[in-house]
Amino acid sequence: MTPHAANDRRLRPAASGRLSGWVPATALLLAMTTSCTGSASGDDSAAGPRPGAAGVGDRLFPALGNGGYDVAHYGLTLDYVPENNRLKGTAVITARATQDLSRFNLDLSGLRVRTATVQGAKAQFSREKDELRVTPAKPVKDGDIFKTVVTYDGTPRTIENDDGGLEGWIETDDGATALGQPAGSMTWFPGNHHPSDKATYDITVTVPKDEDGDPYDVVGNGELTAQEDNGDSVTRHWRTEEPMAGYLAHISVGYFEIDKGRTDDDLPVYVAIDPDESEDAADVKDLVPEIVGWASRRFGPYPFSSTGAIVDHLPDLDYALETQTKPYFDEAPDETLLVHELAHQWFGNSVTPRQWKDMWLNEGLATYAEWLWEEEHGGRDTDQIFEDFYDGTDSESEGIWAFAPADPPSAARVSDPPVYGRGAMVVHELRKAVGDETFFDILRTWTRQHRHGNADTRQFIALCEARSGKNLTKLFDVWLFNKEKPSRTK
Ligand SMILES: [Zn+2]
Repeated sequence: MTPHAANDRRLRPAASGRLSGWVPATALLLAMTTSCTGSASGDDSAAGPRPGAAGVGDRLFPALGNGGYDVAHYGLTLDYVPENNRLKGTAVITARATQDLSRFNLDLSGLRVRTATVQGAKAQFSREKDELRVTPAKPVKDGDIFKTVVTYDGTPRTIENDDGGLEGWIETDDGATALGQPAGSMTWFPGNHHPSDKATYDITVTVPKDEDGDPYDVVGNGELTAQEDNGDSVTRHWRTEEPMAGYLAHISVGYFEIDKGRTDDDLPVYVAIDPDESEDAADVKDLVPEIVGWASRRFGPYPFSSTGAIVDHLPDLDYALETQTKPYFDEAPDETLLVHELAHQWFGNSVTPRQWKDMWLNEGLATYAEWLWEEEHGGRDTDQIFEDFYDGTDSESEGIWAFAPADPPSAARVSDPPVYGRGAMVVHELRKAVGDETFFDILRTWTRQHRHGNADTRQFIALCEARSGKNLTKLFDVWLFNKEKPSRTK
């Protein structure tokens, strides 16, 4: 096999300045208050309803997400016209208030908001940069479940980052695709777009037939629960019943060859391939169930109710993304990249970082899955891959010593090589320290304990120490937290 660049998403800050945006200290304080207790305490409650924070206080992306509520469900009804790239949407957002709210924010970039209601009553709204501020007619009480409906339309934005990388709503040669890491989902629906607020989704998309009267396909996360032919348009309804972080929400509109199957564990498999990639991607439909079965035996039960892949034809994009249940590929992936994105279904999608600085838990573990796959499929063994990263002979090892994997210096660098390659080296050092049996027990316990939730580095280390009975402070200090390239400890 020929391992190659794991051409996975490399996070970049948005050129709009949204991601490095200034956030008032008071907003951060409010976010901290709500995340600690879920409700106002002491003097605050005497002060009555107050605005939800404009960000959740992510250290690297302080303006992402919003405080004061937790979203339980997004119901998105979208009309999309590929010919002129126009989107019309209704978002029904069901959330629970975590404080008395006089108003609250939703993240939304571009598009024109037409109406907003909260609990059926007309709400006031205003826009500022990528924040939609909603003021309900009556304050929402702490603990109340409330429904917000926003109608909107326009030409959805593509976010072009400093180095030319694209996210958000991206037109393809036969439709469009929506990619949300880290902030692109706000270009096609309003929401709480930080990974710490996961929710279930129903996404219904209607697209007119093309000029020949042929229907477009619409492929999304989760399961296809309904499809209708309306004469001159088609409607597809995709449902995600397990919690999903906003950055993993996805739809692709275009022409696809669809292959449906089952894994050995009877899990539905849905593979959509752009006809321009069908020859190169011929093995994807067989590899997906094989890799999912392999990974389930190592990492624990597959966490979602279906799996699959979307192979589009958008080679200029130059990355793949682990969109939930069906990773998205800009062109036919090789085996290694498929392993990486499918491993993210456990590491990142089911167990999601609480803050973006813990990205190494996604990328280090998904990269280590590549190493394990190679070792078990006739390639180098993991000791050798580790050596090749250490001495720089592996092509993926370039730049891995730039900073400590657990401490990306800025939002712009949160997806740089240390988070991937050196992150995988941390995992290998852990495996050597605790032995194979305990190592795989740690991984399976991790995916079980935090299934469909959020977790952080501190919790990972605590679990490693608890399951192994060893003090691993030095190992993690040297490999995870220290910037210096560790000396050899053979
Ligand atoms: Zn990745």
